Amino acid sequence: MRYAPEADPVITLTSGPVNAYPDVLRALSRTVLYDFDPAFQATYERVVGKAQTALRSSTKPVILQGEPVLGLEAAVASLITPDDTVLNLASGVYGKGFGYWALRYSPNLVEIEVPYNEAIDPQAVADKLKAHPEISVVSVCHHDTPSGTINPIDEIGAIVAEHGGYLIVDSVSSFGGMKTHPEDCRADIYVTGANKCLGAPPALTLLHVSDRAWDKMKANDKAPRASMLSILDWENAWSKTEPFPFTPSVAEINGLEAALDLYLDEGPENVWARHALTAKATRAGLGAMGLELWAASPAIASPTTTALKTPDGIDEAQLRATVRERYGVVLSSGRAETLGKLTRIGHMGPTAQPIYAVAALTALGGALGALGRPVATGAGIEAALAAIDADG
Ligand SMILES: *Cc1c(COP(=O)(O)O)cnc(C)c1O
Repeated sequence: MRYAPEADPVITLTSGPVNAYPDVLRALSRTVLYDFDPAFQATYERVVGKAQTALRSSTKPVILQGEPVLGLEAAVASLITPDDTVLNLASGVYGKGFGYWALRYSPNLVEIEVPYNEAIDPQAVADKLKAHPEISVVSVCHHDTPSGTINPIDEIGAIVAEHGGYLIVDSVSSFGGMKTHPEDCRADIYVTGANKCLGAPPALTLLHVSDRAWDKMKANDKAPRASMLSILDWENAWSKTEPFPFTPSVAEINGLEAALDLYLDEGPENVWARHALTAKATRAGLGAMGLELWAASPAIASPTTTALKTPDGIDEAQLRATVRERYGVVLSSGRAETLGKLTRIGHMGPTAQPIYAVAALTALGGALGALGRPVATGAGIEAALAAIDADG
């Protein structure tokens, strides 16, 4: 075995977390300032400002001190009351999971569920809202990462807005890697994080909260307060003249600032383009190798993760283990319902570089050959290169 499981791999091409950008790693090692030191308070206000610029929001984003599951759970706990009827849109493991959370705060749950290789049809949402005028909150996952598929949240958001419902969006693994912003989809709470396409380590949630979502949370006397699950506690924390409710993750805030600087300096459109091209080259290569996409159509395949169907007769865990042992490349498995059925190649942050498509295809092709199912790896590489070069 060339690469022992207990030794660091050569390349991590997962769907998050991914290795952080070198500038982010350096920022994490800056002096850890006291949270009430004016220098840190100024830093924090500046970082929230940069997050607001990146999110293109009209309101100040909130940073919660935990990886984005914290933000998702906090959004549900703060916004949903027993008087709400929630429409949950489930096209994958994360979308489905949202419904279980919602049920903790309201017994009234309506769901649209589609097979986990498909996307939600906006027309189905419009029909459901018409049939259930009592629906007051809609939740949707933008990129259901364990499927590598994208939901049309801007179209869905317009329909929800027309209905007057509150919209909660999980954009954890799409924001920063493709064109998506909270106000483009008219989200009331939009949850993302630092550890996927922004290329920082897992530790922080970034939240957009609309003005009316603040009002609804404040009116909810059960919304968490004086709690690690609280959004309300952090409403004014962005201001250098306001105290923090609890100690923010100082080093991680420095890392987030570096990640936001990289994103804004490179130019969001350029960042999205390299994510899209890496995914396109990967899809082209898989097709030429005779491997199948998990997504029902390339149109809904994510630009930040490519999921391939596990070839017949192949044990998915063994495939990933072989890729890692022979070539030192780490890929992601499916999760829950998609576990064992697909393998995911992540294109996020620093790994959203087209040349990594070639590395992933080569490692996959080599491993499949070693497992007794040879594929046309050379043709896959040629196809990936052609896709890259066609982009100029
Ligand atoms: C990564 C991710 C999260 C964060 O959750 P973890 O399971 O802890 O990584 C939430 N939603 C989506 C869609 C994600 O991809």
